Amino acid sequence: MTDTRSNKFYLSLLKTRLIELQSQDITNADSRDTVVLDQSSVGRLSRMDALQQQAMSKATRQNRIVEIHAIKNALLRLEEGEYGYCEDCGEDIPAKRLELAPTSVRCVNCAR
Ligand SMILES: [Zn+2]
Repeated sequence: MTDTRSNKFYLSLLKTRLIELQSQDITNADSRDTVVLDQSSVGRLSRMDALQQQAMSKATRQNRIVEIHAIKNALLRLEEGEYGYCEDCGEDIPAKRLELAPTSVRCVNCAR
């Protein structure tokens, strides 16, 4: 992708998302403690429910870490001029796909 304008567009898209994820990560660390406190004071949730909730928020956090890595990878690809090309077939990844999922490294056909 040689268009400087679109590179700038994806760069800001990725950076905005990265900041969003990183701030969510901080918020989530707080709310995980709150879940445990609420559970003991209200006592309506069973221990199983609390554990399930904890597992879920752990999974959410894991997904976030994966996405943060993907964004950092995409930023690196932008820097190297590799961004927007399919990793497998080398074709352009359609702009529509990149707008929806700016961390895509494969075109729709190869991602399947
Ligand atoms: Zn492809």
